[in-house]
Amino acid sequence: MNLSELTIKKAMIGLSEKKFSARKLAEDCLKNIEERNKELNVFLEVFDDVLAQADVADKIISSGEANPLTGIPLAIKDNILIKGRKCSSASKILENYTASYDATVIKKLKDAGVIFMGRTNMDEFAMGSSTESSAFGPTKNPFDLSRVPGGSSGGSAVAVASGMALGALGSDTAGSIRQPAAFCGLVGMKPTYGAVSRYGLMALGSSIDQIGPITKTVEDAEIIFTAIAGADSLDATSVDVSPTEEFSWPSRPSLRSARAGENSSAGFTIGVPRDFLSEGVDPEVLKNFEESLEKLRAAGCKIIDISLPLVKYSLAVYYILMPAEASTNLARYDGMRFGFSAEAPNLLEVYKKTRGEGFGREVRRRIMLGTYVLSHGYYDAYYNKATAVRGQIKHEFEKVFEKVDLIATPTAPTPAFKLGEKIDPVSMYLSDIFTVPANIADLPAVSVPTGKNKDGLPLSFQLMASIGGESALFSTARILEKYLPAGDLS
Ligand code: GLN
Repeated sequence: MNLSELTIKKAMIGLSEKKFSARKLAEDCLKNIEERNKELNVFLEVFDDVLAQADVADKIISSGEANPLTGIPLAIKDNILIKGRKCSSASKILENYTASYDATVIKKLKDAGVIFMGRTNMDEFAMGSSTESSAFGPTKNPFDLSRVPGGSSGGSAVAVASGMALGALGSDTAGSIRQPAAFCGLVGMKPTYGAVSRYGLMALGSSIDQIGPITKTVEDAEIIFTAIAGADSLDATSVDVSPTEEFSWPSRPSLRSARAGENSSAGFTIGVPRDFLSEGVDPEVLKNFEESLEKLRAAGCKIIDISLPLVKYSLAVYYILMPAEASTNLARYDGMRFGFSAEAPNLLEVYKKTRGEGFGREVRRRIMLGTYVLSHGYYDAYYNKATAVRGQIKHEFEKVFEKVDLIATPTAPTPAFKLGEKIDPVSMYLSDIFTVPANIADLPAVSVPTGKNKDGLPLSFQLMASIGGESALFSTARILEKYLPAGDLS
């Protein structure tokens, strides 16, 4: 057996029982990289010291000092800083930028003894839903090479789906963890806003971004989430939402019982926003969604219809707030401090040429949009209005969470689409229709694979919980996972 087929949990057990070494595990991942990275375009860089990292992990394991994650090979999205390594956000403007410090999540994983396989391809600055906007070519979906893997964390998803790493980190501002996980038959989890520190994440929308795991199983996602979660003095927006601790938010009895054991999801009430699901959803996606609801019902969950009339505005709100925040965040790339700097006769020309040549089309589009909505005279009409609507959407979710423990939708309206299919930006933006509300309302959400369509493409189910409700999410997602045909999980 190629050890890369193992789940993180099984590899952790195998390593601790000395059934195999961290070196052998890393070698098996490297073998898959060797065989398929060229074709799939997953890694922008495979680190040259993977085996040396594995040897260090083996020494730690044999000394008996190992942490549960010691020796586990992970892939890292190319917008998360690892000290001394390149980090480009898949952009020409940062092609040769080297990180000068570790992101907090990286520091935590380093301390845990994780092996970093390399940095994965993504949509440029995380702007996209297909990984096609990368300056370094698109990543391909391993289930069908003519299709996209989703995005923006497409490289991270394919690294896990094709056995190049056992798990990966992605970032999610509107679905960039959950949607590629869905397109590649994996679990993708977006934590509560602030549950994971964003120190060292290249920002897209600072009030929306979260880092989270992409894994083969719900349990693996929980393992990584637990390792990276927690308040951090270096990220003022971070809060403690560790699933192993009592949350500080107003506790609901059912959420409390979820922490007590695995089967406590029985009895959870799950709300389905029917109105929101009525248009533009692929019939096979809808059928699979209904079947998954039936499974949850059979497991003892109560399924009820809910109404979220404002949720349909989430995408519009996102496409005001995110470009505004992105245009501000990207202002620092002007050829002076970071990365690429164009030759030009004067300072203004250096700025213009550096940004004109360094940023790709989608990034330039969003900088223009963002600068416009923040400009004098329009700020109130756009940015402030969108912020106010965001507040109302949050409030609407709060109200619904007084009645339900979780909310369910499909993760994406369609399975993986064809490379080059969505040329019109709005059709691309619409693929986030079900994932973006959780970002707008700061909620934790998870995407779980729920089988395949008739063409063999993965289908997926999304659960959202109230702020701090990670534990309820994980325990309910685990129920669904049990129904996957054997062989779909290692
Ligand atoms: N598709 C979204 C966008 O293009 C996803 C962004 C994200 O989650 N990073 O903005």
